[in-house]
Amino acid sequence: MNKPKIVIAGAGYGGLITTVKLQKLIGTEEASITLINKHDYHYQTTWLHENAAGTRHHDQTRIAIKDVIDPRKVNFVQDTVTKIDPEAKKVTMENGQISYDYLVIGLGFEPANFGIEGLLDHAYNIRSINSSRLIREHIEHNFAMYNNESEKKEERLNIVIGGGGFTGIEFAGELAERIPELCKEYDIDRDKVRVTVIEAGPSVMMGFDPQLVEYALNSLESRGIEFQTNAFLKEVSADSIVYEKAEEKHTIKTNTTVWAAGVQGSSVLEKSGFNVKRNKVMVTEDLRDPDHDDIFIVGDCAAVMNEETGKPYPPTAQIATQMGFNCAQNLKALIRKESNTQKFVPDLKGTLASLGGGDAMGTVMGKKLYGKPADVMKKASDNRYLYQLGGVGLVLKKGKFNIFS
Ligand code: FAD
Repeated sequence: MNKPKIVIAGAGYGGLITTVKLQKLIGTEEASITLINKHDYHYQTTWLHENAAGTRHHDQTRIAIKDVIDPRKVNFVQDTVTKIDPEAKKVTMENGQISYDYLVIGLGFEPANFGIEGLLDHAYNIRSINSSRLIREHIEHNFAMYNNESEKKEERLNIVIGGGGFTGIEFAGELAERIPELCKEYDIDRDKVRVTVIEAGPSVMMGFDPQLVEYALNSLESRGIEFQTNAFLKEVSADSIVYEKAEEKHTIKTNTTVWAAGVQGSSVLEKSGFNVKRNKVMVTEDLRDPDHDDIFIVGDCAAVMNEETGKPYPPTAQIATQMGFNCAQNLKALIRKESNTQKFVPDLKGTLASLGGGDAMGTVMGKKLYGKPADVMKKASDNRYLYQLGGVGLVLKKGKFNIFS
């Protein structure tokens, strides 16, 4: 009998952890494993705000896939998945097609635009290495241009962040560090630069403990970040945005709008006819598509219900990684026709948000942490992920060690 073909689509947290775990769990004679990814590298999405602000080089955030997979066990295909046909058990890519017996979908997230006028055409997104590098270069270009034009254009120095959630706040924190450096480099007065976070809710970081939110606001405001809450982004153009607050419209001249408010799963799922809500499939308790028991879905393309709150868990790298471990175990069980697959139970250790410049806040094991201890824990958790992926060698090569900065 032919050995089963396992195809893993997407080398993000969920897909790549599934792959590296599975290559250890099963032998080459048991199944073939193929990993498909758009790029020949993996990136830690949770570091991208640093690359976008320019406080960390993007090469530290990406890892060559060949450095973490075993080529004797995993066949890597660099291509973009365009469609999945669950009935024919085929994955279509830009440059070919591949059939599977078991498929793991880990294609990650895409920005959700909520129908805001001009957003798709004019706003930037922190989504990948490419999009983050573009933001960094765009901001730097505008600073470089400022003193090269006879008419001083404030829109070159105004940066608007759409959304005061996790991503928006972490990006604002990095900008708070980067802007003084850029001002020095391009001879610009810091007071001329404005960074404004536009948040539709009554507060930023909704869902976080109010004391932690206050800590974050104080930290960011003291470094020059402005906040507009209960404010709705209405229009984005190449050189301005319009937001509405208390039924009044306000305009900010800006060449740089970064949309950080809301994500959805990969549009490939909807295009392929999966039963989705915001491009996510509500998976079974062992992470399978309810309509196809040969398809596992991990990471931001999967929704898992939190029975305590009655709402799906928010999409996080922490959960995506844990799903990867669970998925690899379950694939092994199916291939070996072992006992039942395991239910996925998230083991939430806490949430930490970096605020830039060695500051952070969040909760770990139910305990609130602020400032340096939170920053050290955040970096330790980033390094732990590298350890899970590629052992001590990868931590030494790509890890975060600037804990005393
Ligand atoms: P991703 O990590 O998004 O990876 C998807 C992979 O699939 C990528 O390699 C991509 O190139 C590839 N891909 C996509 N489409 C295709 C295609 N069509 N064909 C082939 N390949 C494709 N979570 C936390 O837990 N803690 C944090 O501190 C945190 N901070 C964050 C900060 C920022 C700035 C952002 C943007 C997110 C943050 N998150 C955080 C959320 C977290 O990053 C996501 O939940 C996580 O990345 C989801 O992992 P994933 O495995 O689903 O996919």
